[in-house]
Amino acid sequence: MSDLGTAVAVNNGDNGMFFGCESLNRISFLRSDIEFIRATMNHSSTVFVVFVNGEAVLDKDKNSILLTHLKDDTKLDDAIRKLVPLMNTAGIRMLESGVNITFLGLMEPDKRSADVVSDNLFIHKDIYRGVPYYGIDIRPNSGTLIKPEDVEHLLKMETVKRMSVFEMNNAIASLYSHAKMYLNWLGKFKYCPDCGSALYPVDGGTKLKCSNPDLTQYCEVRDLPVNNVCFPRTDPVVIIAITTRDFSKICLARNKRRIGSNVMYSTIAGFMEPAETIEKACSREIWEETGVKCSEVSLVCSQPWPYPVNLMIGCYGIVDFNGDNEIINLNHDDEIMDARWFDTKDISEAIDNYSGKGFVDFSMDKITFPGSTAIAHHLIKLICDKFKRSQGSL
Ligand SMILES: [Zn+2]
Repeated sequence: MSDLGTAVAVNNGDNGMFFGCESLNRISFLRSDIEFIRATMNHSSTVFVVFVNGEAVLDKDKNSILLTHLKDDTKLDDAIRKLVPLMNTAGIRMLESGVNITFLGLMEPDKRSADVVSDNLFIHKDIYRGVPYYGIDIRPNSGTLIKPEDVEHLLKMETVKRMSVFEMNNAIASLYSHAKMYLNWLGKFKYCPDCGSALYPVDGGTKLKCSNPDLTQYCEVRDLPVNNVCFPRTDPVVIIAITTRDFSKICLARNKRRIGSNVMYSTIAGFMEPAETIEKACSREIWEETGVKCSEVSLVCSQPWPYPVNLMIGCYGIVDFNGDNEIINLNHDDEIMDARWFDTKDISEAIDNYSGKGFVDFSMDKITFPGSTAIAHHLIKLICDKFKRSQGSL
């Protein structure tokens, strides 16, 4: 726990890793209650996080994503009223309705912003109370139930640029991440991976069912006794800071990306493969990308990353120098351009001088390191802190 605490301590003043701040109670057990879904969808307090063609709409005045109260948008309210009866039916599919909708959770009273009045909460069974939040991705055409003219005011609005999300506060960026990952999944998975029939969302847009009506045909998705639905996807990615047992050195690598005239050195990262432990995925990625042999991996913390649906699993790996383990060899994989062992002391100085915004500048060789919105920053800082502690300076 102390490692985790150290890793997330510097984080824009918000709670938790960037994209990982959970403002909503997801109350996942209520998603299957269709009456709960119908009632929350058009409650007077309900807030929609609005996306158009897969990207969030920008609220220019607030430099935020657009959060629309249904009571303030009669056109969206009218559209939602048409969609409510279609929930849990094939008619709610994007291709027929023109939208994807997903239930995100309840913003409970203690997490509410001051502008939400206290007598306007949704209350379920006198236990669960708050403001319901939904994500909606609008992609209408002339053949869909919701027509482009029904939501023209939203279609005309500017959408969020990727880098601007990193300027938003963590609570908003995390809400964006939450909605984007569900809506991205709903947008991509339209057909049953076994029989090819149309999939349709159930449980408030958090699961997909196969619609194949032919019961004489066996379908792995429809007919399996337990997991007879498609669940949302999260792709696990391992991300590792490579260090020595005394934390005095850190191995970082760079790809082709440039930050202005600077180059970025960062931690190694790669997708996990099926039937692989987190630890083995780390040592494989380290060896494939740098040639370095690491046999001891520790798990530190994780970060949701909505580009498109990743979970970054942060680790550090210890390399025992023996004249062979530490040798860098870039010939296995052409993914990175360079890798090198830095002195932790030098990186630590750069991080100590970091303003907290943007990237970390290294005084030498026009090099930058990742800023605090990236888990890589926290992993590198963790090694720096461990080194300082070993030197008695922290
Ligand atoms: Zn099927």
